This record gives sequence, structure tokens and C-alpha cells, in this order.
Amino acid sequence: MAKLNLIDLDFDRSGYRRFVSSWLYRSETLTYLVDPGPTASFSQLVAALADVGVESLDFVLLTHIHIDHAGSSGDLAREFPAARFVCHPRGAAHLIQPDRLWEGSLAVLQETARMFGRPRPVPEAALADPDAVAAFSIESLETPGHAPHHLCFLHDRTLFAGEVAGTRYPLPDDAIYMRPATPPRFFPQVALESLALVRAQAARIDRLAFAHYGMVDDTDRHLEIAAGQIDLWVQTVRAITKETGRCDWSRTLQDDVVAALLQADPHFANFSRLPDDIQTRELEYFRNTLDGILGWVKHAG
Ligand SMILES: [Zn+2]
Repeated sequence: MAKLNLIDLDFDRSGYRRFVSSWLYRSETLTYLVDPGPTASFSQLVAALADVGVESLDFVLLTHIHIDHAGSSGDLAREFPAARFVCHPRGAAHLIQPDRLWEGSLAVLQETARMFGRPRPVPEAALADPDAVAAFSIESLETPGHAPHHLCFLHDRTLFAGEVAGTRYPLPDDAIYMRPATPPRFFPQVALESLALVRAQAARIDRLAFAHYGMVDDTDRHLEIAAGQIDLWVQTVRAITKETGRCDWSRTLQDDVVAALLQADPHFANFSRLPDDIQTRELEYFRNTLDGILGWVKHAG
């Protein structure tokens, strides 16, 4: 029987529980991880793998190379030398030589990038093309909405969604908290096309394994909400920037957008049900999402 485990890469920082994670798949013939997480939680990841008796990994599937998802790949390649790291060809060079990725991460995430830690290089010989997993019936779907090199992986009726449908936080009684994850440079049409591509496969998907955070089995509903949020959030930001004449990020602009979305978006409105520390962390990331949308609104008018 195949097993799928969620490894919570919990950080010793307020609000960073139930956020960064890695998925571990094991069957008699195949063991792989999806998104090993950042450098800073590498020892936690290795301990979690040892706990469940994983001695070797066949593949490490990378939905994208952002440092909170793939940062520990270089360390992991040394710990598990037989593992093959699968990423989009557009991401490969940044794994082999991560200096520019690190500089970009520092520019966007600042202190948070330091918390995640600097990635070490992955040996080129450890990298594999997405075709390498096709022989194991793992399909990769090009879903460039969140990042130009973003992939989703479909295996055994589970879609490892990365951030194609944004970020969620599990709430009791099936209430849904979700928000888009749209860092710059963001193109709404590309994000919607990525979601449409996944939705076209919905009959083959029983569950979505989010990168942030957890698993859901009402796939259609979550994908529909994610697409609706892209449209609604772009419209909302556009309306507020037109009304106020402000198109650059500021604390007041963010406060206005958050207030409008809490009214207009019933799933984002469940923000009020998040624990305090998670709310604070979500507002930190809100800036990144808003920056992407502001960039688009400025560009497209
Ligand atoms: Zn992420």
C-alpha cells in the first residue's frame, strides 16, 4: 500500500506552523519527496525521514525553486546521493548556481529569506527532467501562474499543487480560508490558464496536496475558488488604485485592500477565524501577493 505523509516544517518563529511543508510518498517500488523545503529546516526534514525509516529517495519533485520549497535541495542531494531532483528546465540553472536566486529572494523577502536560509548548489548530475518520472506514471503539468517555472505533479489521483491554487490554512468544520499567491511579476491570465489546465484534469484528481498547507478532497470547489479569487482580487485592487490614485505599495493602501476583500471575498473573510499568529504571518505575505497584483494593474491599467 502506498503511503503519503505530510511533513510539517515548523519554524521556531511565530506564525510559521502549518505553513511550510513537504510531501513524502512511499510505495514498495518508489519513494519520493515533493518540495523538501528551505535550508533552515533541513535537519528537521532529515529527522522526519529517519523517523519513518526512509533510507533512500528515488526522486525529489520540485513544484518550483523558491527557497521555501527547494532551498534544501543541495543539502539533500548530499544526504541522498541517489535521489534525482526533478524541476522545470527553466529552474535548473538556479539550482546548480543559486547565487542569483538568493539575491532575488533577499530583495523580495528580506528578513524572511534569511530565516529560510541560503540554498546550497545542487550537483548538475543530480538533476533530472520531468520526463524522468513519466515512467513512474507521474505527470508534470506546466502551471506557470505562481512562477514561470512552476509545475504541478499528478500521481495516483493526487495533484501536488504547489501554489497553483494559492495558499490555504485548514480550519475546523470544513470552512475554507484561501488567498492567491501572486508574487511579482504576476500575469492574471497566465495564473487563470494554469488553473484551467488543472481543472481540465479534475476528473482524474481525487485530492489536492497544497504546498501551503495540507490536503483537500473537494478538488473542484477549491480550484473554482482559486480562479474566482484571481479575478476578484485584481478587480478590487484596480478599483481602489483608480479611486485613490495610488498604485505603489503602502501600508494604507494594503489596509484598504484587505478591508475591501474581507467584505467581498467570503473565503478570505475567514481570515477572522485564523489564530492570531497565523493572521500576522498572512498579512506579511499579503504584501507579496499585493505587490504582484499592483504591478499588473500598473502595467495593464
Ligand atoms: Zn511558497
